[in-house]
Amino acid sequence: MKIVAIDGPAGSGKGTVAKILANKCNLVYIDTGAMYRAIAYLTLKNGINKDEEDKIIELAKNAVIEFVDEKVFINGEDVTKEIRTMEVTRIVSPISSIVKLREILVDMQRKIAGNKDVIMEGRDITTVVFPNATYKFYLDASIEERANRRFKENQEKGINVSYEEIKESIRKRDYNDMYKEVGALMRTEDQIYINTEHLTIEDVVEKMRKIIEE
Ligand code: C5P
Repeated sequence: MKIVAIDGPAGSGKGTVAKILANKCNLVYIDTGAMYRAIAYLTLKNGINKDEEDKIIELAKNAVIEFVDEKVFINGEDVTKEIRTMEVTRIVSPISSIVKLREILVDMQRKIAGNKDVIMEGRDITTVVFPNATYKFYLDASIEERANRRFKENQEKGINVSYEEIKESIRKRDYNDMYKEVGALMRTEDQIYINTEHLTIEDVVEKMRKIIEE
């Protein structure tokens, strides 16, 4: 059982490279951010406020989250697109600070991985979910570069959000993700640190592939 764990802030390239590496190295790709987003989506859908912790925990306890053919389902509903909206992005980080919710999702993440060879990305994969992972990476880039990547991604998808708005949203999320009581995004000595600032996606993939396969 091989576990490739990747952590890093929003827009650091984790998702993009993990998907490519999953194909190249025959690993099952697990996007844990999508799981927190799916719970945030369900919270909004049920008219629950982000501060109503008990109700959110109840939702999570009863939720079935599945990844099928690059799509994300919660309780049988395909929410692949819905979990990427600004509304969900706005509340996902505060919601993911709920300690009990994290316990439920971390448990689910370990179960989804099972005995498979996986590549899992998020904020606490190298530290909490799989501290004994086979390979641990931390991807990084400046906030300007990360905001720029998201801005371009959005433009390609026809989503109209200004660069400044994206940068501010990432800045808030970075802060919240780094100062969480449990599962905070952090750098540790045993992670392989990659600054993706001036690297292409292919460069990052190659760097990581060499480490994983050699
Ligand atoms: O990776 P993505 O940006 O989609 O993650 C959305 C949010 O979910 C993050 O900003 C973070 O607050 C939360 N998250 C988390 N732990 C993870 C993955 C994501 O708290 N392992």
